[in-house]
Amino acid sequence: MHGWTGKILQVNLTDKTTEELRLPPETYLNNIGGKGLAGELLFEHLGHRWDDPQMSLAFMTGPLNNTSSPTSGRMTVMSRSPLTGAICDASVGGKMGTILKRAGYDGIVVTGQSEGWCGLNISDTGVTFSNATHLTGLPVSTIHARLSDVPAMQNGAHAMVGPAAENGVRYAAIVFDGHYFAGRGGLGLVMAAKKLKHISVCGSLKTEVFERAELKGAQEEIYRLVAASPVLTGDLGITHYGTGALYDLIGSRRMMPTHNFRQTWFEHAPTMNAHAYKQQYDTKKFGCAGCHILCKKIGAKGEIIPEFETMSHFSALLGNQDLEAVVEANQICNEAGMDTISAAVSLATSAELSGQVLTPESFLKLLREIAAGTGAGATLGQGALRFATAAGRPEIAMVSKGLEFPAYDPRGALGMALAYATSTRGGCHLRAYPISHEILRKPVATDRFSLSGKARIIKISEDLNAVVDSLTACKFLFFAASLEEYARALNAVTGMQTSAQQLLKVGERIYYRERIINARNGFSAADDDIPARFFAESGSSSESIRVLPVDRDEFLQERAAYYRIRGLDENGLPTPHKAAELGLSC
Ligand code: SF4
Repeated sequence: MHGWTGKILQVNLTDKTTEELRLPPETYLNNIGGKGLAGELLFEHLGHRWDDPQMSLAFMTGPLNNTSSPTSGRMTVMSRSPLTGAICDASVGGKMGTILKRAGYDGIVVTGQSEGWCGLNISDTGVTFSNATHLTGLPVSTIHARLSDVPAMQNGAHAMVGPAAENGVRYAAIVFDGHYFAGRGGLGLVMAAKKLKHISVCGSLKTEVFERAELKGAQEEIYRLVAASPVLTGDLGITHYGTGALYDLIGSRRMMPTHNFRQTWFEHAPTMNAHAYKQQYDTKKFGCAGCHILCKKIGAKGEIIPEFETMSHFSALLGNQDLEAVVEANQICNEAGMDTISAAVSLATSAELSGQVLTPESFLKLLREIAAGTGAGATLGQGALRFATAAGRPEIAMVSKGLEFPAYDPRGALGMALAYATSTRGGCHLRAYPISHEILRKPVATDRFSLSGKARIIKISEDLNAVVDSLTACKFLFFAASLEEYARALNAVTGMQTSAQQLLKVGERIYYRERIINARNGFSAADDDIPARFFAESGSSSESIRVLPVDRDEFLQERAAYYRIRGLDENGLPTPHKAAELGLSC
């Protein structure tokens, strides 16, 4: 095959054995890679509890990794979330996707449970297990430095869990190459339950490309579109300011979640924006392998500059106006290996519950306790919903399916209300991103204060993103490029003859399969919802912008329309008819 290696490494940590799985070519063609291939392999396994040794944890690349296709360094991690109980996958950057292909594998599926903390070491010459007890209790940067110090691994890639996962934080992340996070839903806790501390990979194999000149053509086409995109490469775009470029825009639209989503306007936002970080930290850019956009930012003294969600939640959501405290909060989460969105929302929930204003000192202390699993941090580390439920106030947890909301208040862009509700992963902006239409006005502008027509937009967006995560491309590129250019790249690499429309059908199948998995695990329409606050309370209006509650009846009508368009029944459950149409069974 071109593009794929044709080999998946199956690892059983209980008896420390490995096998090579060779799938038929149709399985690759029908699932592409990344999210699609992981979903195919885990379909029958995601009924297990997240900490059952039989539960699988998949790391999956795609056919474009290790080629010159733009943003080809990414990959997907998938399992069942300890935070939500739903299927959970995360697209992650860095270079592991590229290096794993160089080691000769399309992916790794890990099952079982090691007796003690272990490492998995993979190269193009073999696979070994190592004792990793000496790496426990250490911050992520130290673990990464020690793993990178091993002479054979100096050009390798490393995925690891930090102290948060060791201490049972339900939103513990898997950290790749020191800076890149499979952050949401607690995949790090799944890895820790297997006592797998790290995966280290090196290799030098090449990926066979079917038609190099055609790939170059596709690459140039994508580069041209990126160069013409103000959002990506404009003076105020994410190349220059990182994803923090969104901060002013979301603030000015009066949809910045503030004080645990009780307000949507943060008066200190103008001093907490990406420009302020650029000035104060003299930022430089870096990023994932195979990417020329380089949206990550680092300060002159090595400070990691927060991404937009972190920037927003550790300022507005907590009512914090101390820039350095945001950078420190980010640093604590990074070193512990935990998701900043879930951590910040959990903190905001505790502030609402207690009625106390969090100071930088108090929230940084709580964050350290979460990472260590001590004091109040022990319950906050269980996530906002469990924390609020234990206190008898589940309604103050700003979550969907138990996953904490990112930094877009749904009252300011109503498509997000439906996107949060229908996402298979829970309160997430990466399954569908109607913000693209409602705020960025791409590819076509829609009315952000109307739900009309959003069901179809969200369904298409979910299918598109399922393809993007299966190509293991970066979603940011799709502010400029489209599936047409990526279909061309995919065909050039693999020899397939597919089109954007055919790829969207593949995406529909991948997403529907996730609905089937969730339905088997007890999820239904009751879980496709958002907290009552958004239907009852207004946001922070101004003279010219009225931020009203979401109309419950209109929301339910549009959700029903989504179910129809998606081929689900009125309770949000998959139907045998639609499943059969997509070649699935429910
Ligand atoms: S745009 Fe950013 S997240 Fe996407 S591949 Fe490039 S560096 Fe990674």
